[in-house]
Amino acid sequence: MGSGHTYKLAGVMGWPVSHSRSPVIHNHWIAHHGLKGAYVLLPVEPKNLEQALRALPALGFAGCNLTIPHKVEALRLVDRVDHLAERIGAINTIVVETDRSLTGRNTDAFGYIESLRDARPQWRADAGPAVIVGAGGAARAVIIGLIDQRASEIRLTNRSWAKAHDMSQEFGAKVSAIPWEGRHDALAGAALLVNTTNQGMQGEPALDLRLDLLPVSALVSDIIYAPMETPLIAQARQRGNATVNGLGMLLNQARPAFEAWFGVSPGITPELFHLIRETF
Ligand code: NAP
Repeated sequence: MGSGHTYKLAGVMGWPVSHSRSPVIHNHWIAHHGLKGAYVLLPVEPKNLEQALRALPALGFAGCNLTIPHKVEALRLVDRVDHLAERIGAINTIVVETDRSLTGRNTDAFGYIESLRDARPQWRADAGPAVIVGAGGAARAVIIGLIDQRASEIRLTNRSWAKAHDMSQEFGAKVSAIPWEGRHDALAGAALLVNTTNQGMQGEPALDLRLDLLPVSALVSDIIYAPMETPLIAQARQRGNATVNGLGMLLNQARPAFEAWFGVSPGITPELFHLIRETF
């Protein structure tokens, strides 16, 4: 039987996981492409992660996504990790191979870069300095995505100095660490500003950042998608900067995972955007 005739399962493993929009995205694509299968929520406590992962082949799963808090731990538990995920230090996607082994991948860097290209087809990473605010897990994917697109200069600033410093050492000369107090001035001459902190999320205060020195030509990106317009995005839009929210990253990171599981390359249509918007 061809893959189109096989019932396939996929899902997102997290704790908690009920807020995830991934089922909306993947189940839309399953229906749209006339496939047989389902994408389900997999609430798995950290202490059960290994058992849950090992059960995937027996349960008929083509694979799964991983979200908080499993992305780093899962990397240590799978049989094989691809090079990009190894560099990022986390996996967000597992593919169950035909021999039932588990391969870990990370599609967040791809998702981030594609989201910029969708918003601005002419975007180039070497257009000028990029300022990254935040040095957590998502920042690692964003920075590696930018480096692989030949970014010329990356200025990394984080509330906790040590994380920005360590990351700049790890990622080489293109990435310089900027003390938190220097973040406002670091925007001078920048072509791209990215918020990778949780500041501006629903329930969190706005990111404390003055945009005065940021060129109006700079692209302002916030990887947060709830709300879709963070205070940073609103402020940037009002002063004339082009903006990108985190929804494009969320949708685009799902594409390679879906293709790996279901063998079909899915698209991001206005219909899908509409469906996701309705979940807010
Ligand atoms: P994380 O590893 O926990 O990192 C959190 C970052 O936020 C750290 O740099 C932390 O700084 C900073 N931070 C926290 N509180 C702060 C404060 N009061 N002031 C300044 N900085 C503060 O989290 P993550 O996994 O990287 O996720 C970060 C954000 O990205 C979340 O909002 C998440 O929803 C979003 N995200 C979006 C996508 C997408 O597809 N669009 C994908 C992944 C993540 P310290 O080091 O000083 O603690």
